[in-house]
Amino acid sequence: MSAVYNFCAGPAMLPTAVMKKAQAELLDWNGQGVSVMEVSHRGAPFIQLAKDSEADLRELMKIPDNYHVLFMHGGGRGQFSAVVNNFLGDNGKALYLVSGQWSKAATEEAKKLAGDDNIDVINVVEKVNGMNKVFIPALTGDGSEYRYLHYCPNETVDGIEIFDDIDSPWPIVADMSSNIMSREIDVSRFALIYAGAQKNIGPSGLSIVIVRKDMLELPQLTQSSIMDYRLTAENDSMYNTPPTFAWYLAAEVFKWLKSVGGIKGMAEVNAEKARRLYACIDSLDFYKNGVAPENRSQMNVTFQLADDSLDSDFLKEAESLGLVALKGHRIVGGMRASIYNAMPLEGVDALVNFMQAFAARHA
Ligand code: PMP
Repeated sequence: MSAVYNFCAGPAMLPTAVMKKAQAELLDWNGQGVSVMEVSHRGAPFIQLAKDSEADLRELMKIPDNYHVLFMHGGGRGQFSAVVNNFLGDNGKALYLVSGQWSKAATEEAKKLAGDDNIDVINVVEKVNGMNKVFIPALTGDGSEYRYLHYCPNETVDGIEIFDDIDSPWPIVADMSSNIMSREIDVSRFALIYAGAQKNIGPSGLSIVIVRKDMLELPQLTQSSIMDYRLTAENDSMYNTPPTFAWYLAAEVFKWLKSVGGIKGMAEVNAEKARRLYACIDSLDFYKNGVAPENRSQMNVTFQLADDSLDSDFLKEAESLGLVALKGHRIVGGMRASIYNAMPLEGVDALVNFMQAFAARHA
């Protein structure tokens, strides 16, 4: 079969080199004659994998020593509730910024658990000339108002990314499920970063939590042990059996990322991929994107055909050329090309060539 470029928003494509290595090691990992899926997480080889993967992630993201790195269950949504249960124990309040579908979903979960009165919400997206643009108001206070501020720097469904740092008197909790490791960030600006793995890290189910140690002193709600940050940290993410295969693949993705220039190198490629795709959209009246240029996601490029009666032909023809999973999220419709770290520049070029040819044929 000729090359397939998979633009799925998640679970998303993983680096081909990583998949090949996993394939080669599937029946014999680490010279043990069995798969990594079939060995104890408490055995020395897996504990070494866990240590190495954490060290690689710390190096890649320059995570300071006063942060725990946790490998947890439950994907992105698992963290919607974990954050509340771990930080809003005794009627504490939190502020949620809503910039799209996922921050809205996080807000709803927080309200369900902490009560409407304890969750304040600011909608930060406004339409300017028909384009969605993020406006973050000045956030002022003495720090005592909220236990944390939650936001989602990259909205996977809406294709909205917040590139500017947020100045907040309250600890910042960020859902980086769809843009973690896509560009350099200063971890020390955040009290907690979480990410479901299935975009830039590995298979679904696993989630990564990077949490500043002092946050674990907050009073907690009674909660399930497996989502308890303190217990997870005390047990090196092995309070219960971790998703070992997902962790192994994540470890391989971290090694791969180091080998291709780390996050700095990846960020340059990501910027170029996004630049080429948005340039194609902007150069043709045939396509449009409804996000203000300064908030256009570098990971999830949403676009619509001016004539949506051509949507199904577009998708069918794209698929016949090996350009798959371009259908937009059911809530927003249109198209979406997710171009995470694993998507090579050639995949974006192939999509751009197809888009230009399709537009020319239907002009
Ligand atoms: N947050 C963001 C930004 C996401 O993109 C997603 C999934 N697409 C989630 C949270 C939810 O992740 P999960 O399905 O792993 O619970």
